[in-house]
Amino acid sequence: MFEKILIANRGEIALRILRACREMGIKTVVVHSEADREAKYVKLADESVCIGPAPSPQSYLHIPALIAAAEVTQAEAIHPGYGFLSENADFAQRVEESGFIFIGPTPEAIRLMGDKVSAKDAMKKAGVPCVPGSEGALPDNPQEVLKMGRQVGYPVIIKAAGGGGGRGMRVVHHEEELLRAVEMTKSEAQAAFGNPMVYMEKFLQKPRHIEIQILADTHGHAIYLGERDCSMQRRHQKVIEEAPAPGITDAQRKKIGEACAQACRQIGYRGAGTFEFLYENGEFYFIEMNTRVQVEHPVTEMITGIDIVQEQIRVAAGEKLRYEQKDVKLRGHAMECRINAEDPLKFVPCPGRITAYHTPGGPGVRVDSHVYQGYMVPPNYDSMIGKIITYGDSREQAMARMRIALSEMVVEGIRTNIPLHQQLLVDAGFVKGGASIHHLEHRMPDIR
Ligand code: ADP
Repeated sequence: MFEKILIANRGEIALRILRACREMGIKTVVVHSEADREAKYVKLADESVCIGPAPSPQSYLHIPALIAAAEVTQAEAIHPGYGFLSENADFAQRVEESGFIFIGPTPEAIRLMGDKVSAKDAMKKAGVPCVPGSEGALPDNPQEVLKMGRQVGYPVIIKAAGGGGGRGMRVVHHEEELLRAVEMTKSEAQAAFGNPMVYMEKFLQKPRHIEIQILADTHGHAIYLGERDCSMQRRHQKVIEEAPAPGITDAQRKKIGEACAQACRQIGYRGAGTFEFLYENGEFYFIEMNTRVQVEHPVTEMITGIDIVQEQIRVAAGEKLRYEQKDVKLRGHAMECRINAEDPLKFVPCPGRITAYHTPGGPGVRVDSHVYQGYMVPPNYDSMIGKIITYGDSREQAMARMRIALSEMVVEGIRTNIPLHQQLLVDAGFVKGGASIHHLEHRMPDIR
């Protein structure tokens, strides 16, 4: 096992990784920008290195500074967390070329899954069901594009192969709009991702977002840890997640889970990963894979008892997975609310100093957060200040505990989205379970 790991991230996930390392007896190096000097995990880490000024390109995205920090502290492995460089194949490659271990998949696997066209192609070959659409990138010939539109059937969605974060997508309802939409998405994709390649998918009208968590080692083993429902979204950003997904049967879970595990074996995947699907009329349609730990991983940890971050570290150190598929038992229900420093009605970020802070507790309540009373939420990064995760024997109990936890939570000095969560937790459509990805946005005029 490693003696020392460098954590190349910030915020709650830096603290989450630090806690996993401490439990495993691994020393930690935390890197931080000038804005994060006072962070809790900086104080808790064995060593810390300031890697640059507040703007991410000069700190958390600055590869030479990160590699230099690993060199001076003699760390053996680098955990990239989520966001920042976690899905950057060039970073993974630079880490390995510099003699460190990247806690994540190989650069080749990241590259394969980072391009959505090659990812879909690989998944199709592995027998994972995909959203019907163009086979590969759209051709240059307008007549062929129009023909494809007719074959797929309207509405369709044009998506950038290099897209991410909900950007680089355009829905087309009528044939007359198609060619213009393709051209616009191409030029936007070129500007935003440096890759003009676009593809076409059938636009599903009322899908749910359901994703499968997998773990794979370097000895040819891959398992699935069930699914999460992340349909509560605003502008393609997840707001509440839960596991298991309401209404999914054991047989459905087994079928889609095994397809994902088999795909991992086929592409030589290692580490933790998530296959994201749209789910409509009882069918799963692959949209993309995330080759890293996800924000919502705790809900899976709560119902499986498996520590996903520790498993990532063990697999990176070359160990075999400690679980076989038959050891993975789902028990109870878990829910996660992402707490953001933002206006609950206007959704604009609200950085600033937290003047009072009190976290909820009690049975089945977990809070993953790096903030504390007196903490200054910097304006430079993502607005998420933590996550409340609740667990119960049933979905009803997990929800009841979430309502109580939200009512106990005190964050003063800045605005948060706690009021939005409180309204959703009593919203009939959400409480029933199984709402579509549009539910939150449709309900928002009333929630206001
Ligand atoms: P990103 O990488 O930018 O997150 P995704 O491919 O994961 O892009 O899609 C993000 C979201 O966009 C999905 O969760 C869903 O809400 C919507 N979406 C994507 N593809 C489709 C589709 N074919 N039909 C309907 N909605 C879609």
